[in-house]
Amino acid sequence: MTHALGQLSAIVATALFIFALYWMNDPKTARRGVFAGVAAMAIAILATWIQPEIIHHGWIVLAIVAGFAVGIPLSRVPLTAVPQRTALSHAFGGLAAALVGTAKYALWLPEGELTAFRTGAIAIEVILGGLTFTGSLMAAGKLQEVVPTRPITYRGQNVINLSLLGIAIVSALYLIVHPERWWLFGIILVLSLVFGVLLILPIGGADMPTVISLLNSYAGLSAVAMGFVLENKVLITAGALDGSSGFILSVIMCRAMNRSFTNVLFGAFGQVQAGAAAGEAKAVKSGTARDAADLLENASSVVVVPGYGMAVAQAQHRVREIYDQLTKRGTDVKFAIHPVAGRMPGHMNVLLAEAEVPYDALVEMDDINRDLPQTDVVVVVGANDVVNPAARHDKSSPIYGMPIIDADRAKACIAIKRSMNPGFAGIDNELYSADNTLMVFGDAKGVLGDIVKSLAGEGHS
Ligand code: NAP
Repeated sequence: MTHALGQLSAIVATALFIFALYWMNDPKTARRGVFAGVAAMAIAILATWIQPEIIHHGWIVLAIVAGFAVGIPLSRVPLTAVPQRTALSHAFGGLAAALVGTAKYALWLPEGELTAFRTGAIAIEVILGGLTFTGSLMAAGKLQEVVPTRPITYRGQNVINLSLLGIAIVSALYLIVHPERWWLFGIILVLSLVFGVLLILPIGGADMPTVISLLNSYAGLSAVAMGFVLENKVLITAGALDGSSGFILSVIMCRAMNRSFTNVLFGAFGQVQAGAAAGEAKAVKSGTARDAADLLENASSVVVVPGYGMAVAQAQHRVREIYDQLTKRGTDVKFAIHPVAGRMPGHMNVLLAEAEVPYDALVEMDDINRDLPQTDVVVVVGANDVVNPAARHDKSSPIYGMPIIDADRAKACIAIKRSMNPGFAGIDNELYSADNTLMVFGDAKGVLGDIVKSLAGEGHS
């Protein structure tokens, strides 16, 4: 009976996981997707728990309570910290896989139950779990800036890293033939942990979200191996879905930045380029919120380009108020969404949805770029790299080749940010010194609030 219930739960949970991913494809159904994913995970945990060999271990309740105690506060981080929070979750997933693998090896070794298949699955689980654990911790540390975010490189780095991974794989192959040689297991475990750290060292902070998504994929694959070790079907299917979706997301992000996988993993992107930060200061035209409001009042088409600064300032509600003011006047207002604006995929969509900006006003990069040369005013709200024209023409720029929103091609541009400081890629932006750009310096929330007041007629002197 419990067995049948377990089988049925596995099917229901797997179906829900698949629907969860499908629903998350569209913002209109994304919320339903999240609920389906949570329900699937709850069913999977319960179905595992009620198994006869597990249910009598009452202490598992303690483990579940401990999971809640860590997970609930972790879920309360601000939206800007979600990438590093996600990395921490992957670290825990990797650690769990490596620990389960170690425990199973230690249990099965004296009982002589380590078949070649089991040993192979344990080795894969421990290698992927170990490197995901330390790699994800490093990625979270870089994003939180507790570890230096710049790429740390040295001569022969790739050769050393790949050699370590090679030794771990060869040790795993030996272990399959001689499972009693426990020291081989120790080598595999230590090398995978070291490899995770070394893998992330040469990668710059700007590439971390892509790497996190790749680590998600590794965590999924280690869960598949763990599923084979524990003979747990839900783990196998959920891990496979996790592994493939993480991989697909990394590919999409690489495409959005016009980067290859090898370039992300071995390219040391984000290194300070000689002279880049020390480029000669160019004159910029700056103005007040009133000047910006004047430009907007005379425009019949406006495109807002939100970026990371809008998230930092929590200015999405002010953006919505500007949208309301302008559309009331009959101005056509659209939002240009760059796939990697902000610090995680969908960052801008989430913030604008929170402020209840109508979803059909959001336009993707390729579509909006066709309209921008005919657009009267572009308002860049805390975006920098995603509107940097150097990506189109400066072959020496670290973001060369990344598709951008062509804000510089509009008839006029208002750029709102606090200073001339660079964005995440650490480079200057010629958009700010262009003839048709008006810089309005200040916190995006404050500046936009003043523009709203001016548009509403409260700011007239
Ligand atoms: P960005 O290039 O990081 O620039 C953000 C700008 O916002 C900064 O120049 C900053 O200038 C300004 N800012 C910060 N706080 C502000 C505030 N309170 N008020 C007003 N302005 C503020 O951002 P982006 O254009 O959105 O580009 C995203 C970057 O992240 C890209 O390099 C992208 O490749 C990278 N990335 C993103 C993802 C993703 O999934 N979204 C993944 C991988 C990499 P001031 O300090 O002068 O105010």
